[in-house]
Amino acid sequence: MRILIVEDERKTATYLHKGLSESGFVADTANQGNDGLHLALTQPYDLIVLDVMLPDRDGWAVLAAIRRAGQQTPVLFLTARDTLPERVRGLELGADDYLVKPFAFSELLARIRSVLRRGPGRQPETLRVADLELDLIRHKTTRGGRRLDLTPKEFGLLSLLVRRKGEVLSRTLIAEQVWDMHFDSDTNVVDVAVRRLRRKVDDAFPRKLIQTVRGMGYVFEEC
Ligand code: CA
Repeated sequence: MRILIVEDERKTATYLHKGLSESGFVADTANQGNDGLHLALTQPYDLIVLDVMLPDRDGWAVLAAIRRAGQQTPVLFLTARDTLPERVRGLELGADDYLVKPFAFSELLARIRSVLRRGPGRQPETLRVADLELDLIRHKTTRGGRRLDLTPKEFGLLSLLVRRKGEVLSRTLIAEQVWDMHFDSDTNVVDVAVRRLRRKVDDAFPRKLIQTVRGMGYVFEEC
């Protein structure tokens, strides 16, 4: 899942980016309201973490512009301001939640998950293929009822493969989507990650789900 962080304090932005990435999200950061708005309107995000006090266009104006453009991406306001009228203003403008700084990262994460969970059908909560089940909100994976212990990156890789099952995904596409990076030549990192993932997802089961398509990439398919 992709999250946009709009925050002008570099330290907070870096901290949020690191924390969300470690929790298995792909995160983009904008340090100004206008940049944030541009990204929000041109890129697909599952959620936006939006600071209120920004140097150019404040968070309220950004949110108003996003909603005016007809976008219903969930927005979580992050702000040092904590007066009731301001909180109400944010919610009236269509924010989905409101968190006051300073905050604990664990609370932010819990609120992000809760907002994503109640999103009106934008994302299914769980993906099921054969006996494999992925809980996209809690980042839990089971196969045949048995819990699989995946790292956040492995979870991201598996959910990409499952979401686009039956479609051959190139190494370059996987690298971009899961690592949010462009690997010019060395896509070996993808092969290594897929090998590790297979060990956990497929090795103990007779039905293999992750298939290699020679010269092309990988596909998730029940064989
Ligand atoms: Ca700020």
